Parts: sequence; C-alpha cells; structure tokens
Amino acid sequence: MGNHPAETYHRIRRIVFCTYNDPKRGPAVAKKFLEGYRNKLGHEGYVGLKAELAFYDRHKDDYGLTVAGDMGEHADFSGVLDHRACRFDVTTTLAFKTWDEFEPFLGQGVRYKIALLNHNTFELTEVLDLGFKRCADCADGFLIPCVTLMSENRNSHGESSWSNDQLLVDICTCCHTYVEQARHTHHWMFTNQEMVEAAMDIEDAEQTSRGTSDVLDQHNLAIYKYFRREFNDRLMAVAEHGYSVDEPSTGGGHWAMQMVFKNKAVADNLPNEIKCTSEL
Ligand SMILES: [Zn+2]
Repeated sequence: MGNHPAETYHRIRRIVFCTYNDPKRGPAVAKKFLEGYRNKLGHEGYVGLKAELAFYDRHKDDYGLTVAGDMGEHADFSGVLDHRACRFDVTTTLAFKTWDEFEPFLGQGVRYKIALLNHNTFELTEVLDLGFKRCADCADGFLIPCVTLMSENRNSHGESSWSNDQLLVDICTCCHTYVEQARHTHHWMFTNQEMVEAAMDIEDAEQTSRGTSDVLDQHNLAIYKYFRREFNDRLMAVAEHGYSVDEPSTGGGHWAMQMVFKNKAVADNLPNEIKCTSEL
C-alpha cells in the first residue's frame, strides 16, 4: 500500500513543526527541512506549509499560537484573538477580491478565522471571518463545501482501476440539498469502509490497526486538510458515499453521503448524512 499526498503532507508538517520547537534544532533548521521536502510536497503542499510556517514564525506571540492539526484538532493553529480562544487556518490561495460574495458565518461552534497570506511574500494580508454563500434554493441556509469519498473505481469487467474518486459538493445547512462542484481522482485514497474491510482481511496485528477509529480519524483529517489546501479554502467536512442498512432482516436501506469528519465551526449546522442516489 502506498501513500496518498494527504498523508505525506501531514507527516512532513509534523516533522517541520517539531523541529521548529525543538530547542536543539530550532526555526533555521525547520526552514531548511522544509526546503529539503520541497519536491516531496509538490507545489501546493510546499506553498501551504511555507505559509503555515511563516504565519507561526511571525505571529505566534501576537495570537498566542499553538500548532494544531493533529489528532482531535482540525485547524492549523489554535490561539487567542481579542481575549477569546480562536482557531486559525492559513491560506495563500483565497481570492480576496471574491470575498464579498460570501457572508460571514457565525455558527454555534468555536470561533474560527482564516489567516490570508500573500502568496509571493508570505506576509499576513488579513485575518478574515469564515464565510459561505447563501443557498439559492431555500435562501435561508449556507452552502458548506464538503468532500465525499467514493469507493474504488472499477471498469466494465468489474476489475479494479486502483483509484478512488472524490466529489466536492456544497451542502445547504437548511434544506440539505447538495450541488456537485468538482470530481477528483486519487490513488490510495480509500473510503473508511474499504480501510475497515482491508483490516479485517489481514490478520497481521500491525495491519489490523488500519481499521481502528484513531487511524480512520487521522485518515479523514489528512484528506480534509489536503482538499482544503489544494481545492477549496472553505472546505468544512468529509463524507463517504455508501449504503446504510435500515432493515437487517431484508437488507433494505438507503444510499447516502455519511459524514466522517466535520469541522467544529459548522458541526451543529451540518446533518450527519445526506440521502442521495446509488451512482454519483
Ligand atoms: Zn437550502
């Protein structure tokens, strides 16, 4: 089994920030490490991590930043803004000019800000509120971007093509309709269901750990951060397309996008599943 780029970023990020905060090595060595990983990270990954490091380096005292993004955390950093706890996500890709199209979203969840850095100078441009578009169908809800993991692609003979698709959809917080925005394909980006099934097939103890909830949480978080960085700054959730059995005696059930990760900023406003068709 190989690594998809989401896992690579997650691993390198951890190494770079551990190095930064290690008194024996420190910021200069961390920056050198980042340059060394440049090819491995790819362009988007390199720029993303460089922006995170620049924000932390220059503003850790202003905002009391601590590095987040591992188990149980989803934002890049946690810190303090105007004497209140706050989470920060860092981006360089957001088109600042289009910001007016989005309304600030003040959900019930934790306070959440986007730190926008200039993609050439890596200087902080602005700290922004999270914002989303209004739903055109109901006019009451916000459209929350979500990535849906699809099961393994197969050709017409049922043979595996060793890839999975991922669907970017906007989900309305009010009427729960979904609108497809884009489709991507990656190798090694399995669904949670496939991870659990693979773990059950393999008896080796180390391999079996692949299906545990901690491993799945890490998997979903890595995918979330990867898609947010590469494809949509406002991404808030990871879902999985699958069949839910409602009647165990008959096997009757329904197809749905089941949420496997929700950003806490919108968790109360997103349903746990969106019913959909068997083919997406
Ligand atoms: Zn709606």
